[in-house]
Amino acid sequence: QAGGKSIVLDANATSQLRNQGLDSTNDSPKFQHKVHSSVVKAIYTGSEFIATASGDEDFGLVLESTSFYAEQGGQIYDTGSIEGPSGSFTVNNVQVFAGYVLHIGSFLEGPDSKALSVGDEVKCKVDYTRRTLIAPNHTCTHMLNFALREVLGDHVDQKGSIVLPEKLRFDFSHGKPVQPEDLRKIEYIVNQQIKDELEVSAQEIKLADAKRINGLRAVFGEIYPDPVRVVSIGRKVEDLLANPESKEWLSISTELCGGIFTTLFYVILHLCVYVI
Ligand SMILES: [Zn+2]
Repeated sequence: QAGGKSIVLDANATSQLRNQGLDSTNDSPKFQHKVHSSVVKAIYTGSEFIATASGDEDFGLVLESTSFYAEQGGQIYDTGSIEGPSGSFTVNNVQVFAGYVLHIGSFLEGPDSKALSVGDEVKCKVDYTRRTLIAPNHTCTHMLNFALREVLGDHVDQKGSIVLPEKLRFDFSHGKPVQPEDLRKIEYIVNQQIKDELEVSAQEIKLADAKRINGLRAVFGEIYPDPVRVVSIGRKVEDLLANPESKEWLSISTELCGGIFTTLFYVILHLCVYVI
């Protein structure tokens, strides 16, 4: 099924993991594009932790580290597989609960052996073909955020976004309908940036340093970590940091964001903006 059965690690479950001394999942390998080796640390059925997963049920796996992107910041989760010594587990959904990344899915159908146990060494195989469709759409939300402010004014605030392989949705506050001519201008700015094949630069820096960058955009009400990831389009983050107050930065997109991006602009052909 599309999203897999949703298995939730509630506060009780995450505190059980914490009490066992299990650290939060190290998800720093999520920005890489290769097979990642890890270890199964916990298996959850939706109601209890078990030592071995087997059969056709859905399970949630917590690993020591992961290259899977858990759904956050509007960007949809990765899918793929987790392969162990005696079973290949299909990951249909990835969510993060109190720092623990939960890989939700089930074993492949067929005659293969189907089992994974706590302590098993596994290979994380993210579906990078799918991610390659998601990443440019995420980049587009940043360009769109920038273009909306350019055309409609600084009062425009991002209220959320949904980034999927096939489309993106961007919610913002404006207080009145967007005029068709403004819509065309917004579309033009984004499509011009796509055509210019601007470089996307991402760097983790101190939150206080990030906040000094002129024109930096953040999602209102969102709590950001420190250090935080800054993503700019068209200029390197280190250039921004060298002269953070420069007025020049008002004319480029700079955002706080932990998502996954692409500089492969040629995979974005054209953005059409619709207001719904
Ligand atoms: Zn973003």
